[in-house]
Amino acid sequence: MSYAYDDQNIFAKILRGEIPNDTVLETEHSLAFNDIQPQAPVHVLVIPKGPYVCYDHFAQEASDAEIADYTRAIGEVCRLMGVEQGGFRMISNAGEHGVQEVPHLHVHILGGRPLGRMLE
Ligand code: C5P
Repeated sequence: MSYAYDDQNIFAKILRGEIPNDTVLETEHSLAFNDIQPQAPVHVLVIPKGPYVCYDHFAQEASDAEIADYTRAIGEVCRLMGVEQGGFRMISNAGEHGVQEVPHLHVHILGGRPLGRMLE
């Protein structure tokens, strides 16, 4: 499958500095910021800086350095936000069935309260 990246999506604008964000962590290849509509006491979005639509696009086309940086950034955010003890949830919505609103790969990190069961 080929992926068409829309460089006018809101996270692309955040990465270009056109829209402000509440940064939690910035690394060479990744940016993490607080979600503007938090669903839990901790709700951070982690995005790669590269133009990837969703996780499968990223896994296919990103360099090993980008993948390593992104994976470690997610772990580092969990440590910075203090959710590694109580636990947390990582979600990455993709495409229409996944109800992805913003077409730039993002992982939601949610924590800070019991989150309940997600899958029935
Ligand atoms: O996974 P999905 O694409 O539905 O999630 C998009 C997320 O981006 C939402 O949780 C929304 O609150 C967040 N968002 C944000 N800052 C923006 C626009 C959207 O944190 N400027």
